[in-house]
Amino acid sequence: MEYFQLFQATIDAFDSQVALVDREGEIIALNQAWKNNSISNCLSQNTSIGDNYINICETIDSNTELAQEIATEIKAIARSEKTEAKLHYNSDNFELENPLVIHIKQVKQESWLGVLIIQDNMTKQMQTEISLRSVVEGTAAVTGKDFFYSLVYHLTCALSVSYAFVTECLEKTTPGRVCTLAFWCKEDFGENFEYALANTPCEQVIAGISCHYPRKLQAIFPLDDDLIKLNAESYVGVPLVNSSGKILGHLVVIDERPMEDGSTELSILKIFAARAAAELERQKAEQQLAYDALYDRLTDLPNRNLLSNHLNRALEKYRRDSKHKFAVFFLDLDRFKYVNDSLGHKSGDLLLVEIARRLKTCLRASDILARLGGDEFAILLEDIQTLGEAAKLAERIQQSLKSPFHLGIHEVFTSVSIGIAFSEPNLNSSEDLLRNADIAMYKAKALGTSKYELFDESLHIQVVNRLRLETDFHHSLDRGEFQLHYQPIISLVDGQVAGFEALSRWQHPQRGYVSPGEFIALAEETGMIIPLGWWILQEVCYQLKEWQLKFDNPNLTIAVNISQKQFSQPHLIDSLIQILQTTGLEPQSLQLEITESLLMQDVKITMETLRQLKGLGCGLHLDDFGTGYSSLSYLHSLPIDALKIDRSFVQTIDSKGNNSEIVEAIVMMAKSLGLKVIAEGIETQDQLAKLQTLQCLYGQGYLFSKPLNPHSLFDWFITRTS
Ligand code: C2E
Ligand code: MG
Ligand code: MG
Repeated sequence: MEYFQLFQATIDAFDSQVALVDREGEIIALNQAWKNNSISNCLSQNTSIGDNYINICETIDSNTELAQEIATEIKAIARSEKTEAKLHYNSDNFELENPLVIHIKQVKQESWLGVLIIQDNMTKQMQTEISLRSVVEGTAAVTGKDFFYSLVYHLTCALSVSYAFVTECLEKTTPGRVCTLAFWCKEDFGENFEYALANTPCEQVIAGISCHYPRKLQAIFPLDDDLIKLNAESYVGVPLVNSSGKILGHLVVIDERPMEDGSTELSILKIFAARAAAELERQKAEQQLAYDALYDRLTDLPNRNLLSNHLNRALEKYRRDSKHKFAVFFLDLDRFKYVNDSLGHKSGDLLLVEIARRLKTCLRASDILARLGGDEFAILLEDIQTLGEAAKLAERIQQSLKSPFHLGIHEVFTSVSIGIAFSEPNLNSSEDLLRNADIAMYKAKALGTSKYELFDESLHIQVVNRLRLETDFHHSLDRGEFQLHYQPIISLVDGQVAGFEALSRWQHPQRGYVSPGEFIALAEETGMIIPLGWWILQEVCYQLKEWQLKFDNPNLTIAVNISQKQFSQPHLIDSLIQILQTTGLEPQSLQLEITESLLMQDVKITMETLRQLKGLGCGLHLDDFGTGYSSLSYLHSLPIDALKIDRSFVQTIDSKGNNSEIVEAIVMMAKSLGLKVIAEGIETQDQLAKLQTLQCLYGQGYLFSKPLNPHSLFDWFITRTS
C-alpha cells in the first residue's frame, strides 16, 4: 500500500475532523469525518482537496472572527513562529451547534512543512476547565469589593447563566436576612439588594448545605416571588464558609433555562466560594480594624479617637465663632468594680451596654456619646448657651440611672460621677478640655456618689500640685525627709504619762511641712506606704526602747498608726517579730492603731490577722472611733484592747460640759465590753473635766502637749516629771 493511502486510512479512523494543509494553506488531505462535517462546523462545509483553507477562512461571511483567528494561527505556524495552537469556541458566542476545540499543529518532513488541523467537540470536562480558567483569569488580579463584581460577571459568562450573585449574612443586625455584595443580572450589574431567606432556595445554603436545582425551581419554591420575577428555572448555591467554619454568606447562579444536571456548575461554584469566603473574611477584618480604630466594640459607641475628632471640630468651630459654645462631660460609674468583682465580667459588660443605652435616651441626636474605656464615658454637647443647660442634663442623666438595671437574675443599682468642662478661649487642644472634665469628675467623685461638678481653674491647680507632690514623694524616703513626732498619752486618773502616739511628718524641701492627712493617702495609692510603714515601725521601736531606759519606766507604751495596705501585707507578722527582736522591745509595749475602715475589708482575713497580732502580745487600738461605719454588733468579737474616741466628739464638749452624749455612750459601751478608752484631741480643761467625770481613763491632746520631735519631747517629759 502506498504511504499516502496508509495516511488517509489512518486519519479516517479518527472521529475528530482532520485536515492537512501545506504552508500556503492548500488542503492536501481531509479525513472522512471532515468530509461528512460530522461535528457541524461551518468552516469545514464545502471544503475539498486543493482548496486554500486560509483563503476560505479569511473570506467566509459567518463566524468571521473565529475564522480569522484560525487563519492567523495557521499562517503563524506555517512561518514557524510557533509549532501549535489550541483554540476554544463557545457555542454561546459563535454560531456553532456545539462548543468547539480546534488543535492546529505543525508537521515537518525534511524540508517539507505542513499544518494539521484537528477539530473536535469540546468535552464536558474541557468546558468545565475552560470556564474555570476564564473565571480564575478574570478574578485573579482583583481584590476587595471589585472581586465580587468580577466574580459574578465571569461566572455568568463561563457558565452561560442569566444571574449570579454573592451575599453576606446580616446576622448581627437582622438575622435570617442576607445582602448582596455583587449582582449580575442578564446584561449588566444589578443594584445590590437585601432579602429574607425564609422559603427561598437560599435558606438551606445559608444553613451550610450546597444545593442545585437543575429545573422547575419555581415549582419547588412556590412561595418565593422573586423567582417568578427572575423567570428562574434552575439554581445552584453554595455557602461561603470561613476558616473557623462560620457561614459568612453565599454564592448563587440562577438561569432561565434548565441546566443539564447542575453538577458542573456546583463544582465550579464550590471552588470560587472558598476564594470568595477568604476575600469576604479579609474584607470583614479590614472593616473591623477600621471600626475598632474609631468605635468601642462592646457598646458600639465612638471611642476616644473618634470623640477627639469631634472635639477638635467643635473647638475649631468655636474659635471661628464664639457663639458655638460647647461642653464636655466626663462620666465615671460609681462602684462599677463592685459589679465586676461580685457578678463577673459578663455582667459588668452587660451593665455597660445598658448604661450606654440609657445615657443615649437622655441626649439629643446631635450630642456625641463616647466610651473612653472601662467604666468611663464622655459626652460632647455642641451649641449650648448656658451652664444651666449642662447642669440640667447632668441631673437628667443621674435621674435616669436611678432605676435598677436587670442583669440576668441580678438587679443592680448604679450611679455616675460627672465632671463638666466648657469651651473657653484659651484652650490649647481638645485634649485639655477632656482632661479638665476628668479633673472635675474626680472632684465630683470625692464628694460622694451620683454628684456632678463643673471645672474651674483652681481645680486644675490642685491637680497639678498633687501631681508634683506625687513625684517628690517618690524620693522623700531615700532623702530622709520623714521624721517622727510623738504625742504623749496621759492617764486622766493620775496625770501620769502612759505612753506616746507616733505621728509621722514629711518635711518637703520647698513646701515645708506636709500633713500626714495629705501624704498617707498618697503613700497608700502609690504603694510607698509599705517601705514607709516599716521605716516608721522600726524607728518607733528604737525610740521607745531608748526612752524606757532613759526614763527608767518599762511600762511606757507607744502607739503606731497602721494603714490598711500595710495591715494586709502578707508578711506583716514575720516582719513585726523581726523588728521587735532587733530593737529588743517587748511586744506589750507596742500598740497598733487601726481604723474602722480596715475592718470593712474581708472580715475573715482581717480577724485572723488581728488574732495573730494579739497572739504576739501587741496591743490593738481602734482609732478615730465613731467616724467609720463599723457595726457595733461585732465590736465584741474583735480582739482589741481599746477604743480611741475621735477628736471631733471630744471637741464638741463645750465649757459647761454639754454635748458629751456620744462620748458618754462610747465610754459606757467600751466599759461593758471591757475595753479601755482613750479620748483624742483634748484641748480645754472643761473637756478634760467632763471626760474625767465620765470616767474616761486616758487622753491625749494639745492641752497636754502637741506632737513633738524626740528632742523636745524628752525636754517636755523631764519638765513634767521633775
Ligand atoms: P490620728 O491617728 O487620729 O492622730 C491624731 C491626730 O490628731 C494627729 O494629727 C494629731 O496631731 C492630732 N491631734 C492630737 N491632739 C490634737 C488636739 O488637741 N487638737 C487637734 N486639733 N488635733 C490634735 P496628724 O499628726 O496630722 O495625723 C493625722 C492622721 O494621719 C492621724 O490621725 C493618722 O490617722 C494619720 N497618720 C499620722 N501618722 C501616721 C503614720 O505614721 N502612719 C499612718 N498609717 N498614719 C498616720
Ligand atoms: Mg492614731
Ligand atoms: Mg485618731
